[in-house]
Amino acid sequence: MKRIGFIGLGIMGEPMAVNLLNAGYELSVYNRTRAKAEELVKKGANRCDFPADVARQSEVVFTMLTADTAVEEVVFGNRGILEGASAGLIVIDCSTISPNTSQKIYEALGKIGVDMLDAPVTGSKPQATEGNLTFMVGGKKEVYETCLPLFETMGKAAYYMGESGAGSYTKLANNTMGAINLLSLVEGMMIATKAGVDPELFVKVVSGGGARSGMTDNKSPKIINRDFQPDFATALMYKDMKLATQLAEQLNIPVPVLSTVKQLLQMATANGYGFEDVSSVVKCYEEWADIVVQKR
Ligand code: NAP
Repeated sequence: MKRIGFIGLGIMGEPMAVNLLNAGYELSVYNRTRAKAEELVKKGANRCDFPADVARQSEVVFTMLTADTAVEEVVFGNRGILEGASAGLIVIDCSTISPNTSQKIYEALGKIGVDMLDAPVTGSKPQATEGNLTFMVGGKKEVYETCLPLFETMGKAAYYMGESGAGSYTKLANNTMGAINLLSLVEGMMIATKAGVDPELFVKVVSGGGARSGMTDNKSPKIINRDFQPDFATALMYKDMKLATQLAEQLNIPVPVLSTVKQLLQMATANGYGFEDVSSVVKCYEEWADIVVQKR
């Protein structure tokens, strides 16, 4: 496999595509907002005007898009992947979407002999840039195995989770924990700061004990340094919590903590922090407590 396509050059997609290009793959790219493809084109990628063209020119096409509607539009829409695809193509969707949508696309593409993997990722912008993502993959095992070198180019690990949709199931369960961990960090930092403790010192203590999480590592520096540039936008985490809640309902599992966390992310989005990093949810708490968590 040499000819790879990449559709969706946002915060995650762009650095993932750069890593494929740097590894020597022939890359065809498409992004709805044309300007975002500039850097990749300068580095040697071939720009396509439509997703259908990416499908025509590639053996494997990756998609890394906002949400279900975006993926459906890119696959089924006018001049979408379906229009340009022929039997033997593999589509790998790395977006975080509903497992039902992953399965629907898998079925539709399967009818024309196109294989599809749902392969969402953990890790954010820094891990995408460093090639340190972790992929969780659903679909046919032999297709996953064929695509392993591509996952290894962009990530440090890839796990085969089961049939179509299994990657998306795993991702929603994972992000449920991520969002809860974030809110636990925020509430801990708020209590410590309002009580007069230095937030930086507080995080040092937390990092040595059982309350530590990936969110402590990744988001506490952003909060303390007041850097709310998005590595992962609040609106996207809110979207994931809506999907996780729907999944829990489908599975008939009560999820009271997830439900509260979803509402907190909804509040942050309604307050205007949707396009900021998800760590900006701290600003809601800061308004309530009339204190700012920052470097001393
Ligand atoms: P992002 O920066 O907002 O990028 C989204 C991409 O989707 C952009 O290229 C955007 O194109 C494209 N897009 C949206 N709607 C479209 C449509 N209708 N047709 C065609 N293209 C469309 O988001 P991101 O942070 O890279 O996240 C991408 C996916 O990965 C999401 O599902 C997210 O939940 C998941 N994810 C994100 C992270 C993270 O830390 N950021 C981590 C793991 C998973 P335009 O440029 O034209 O807007």
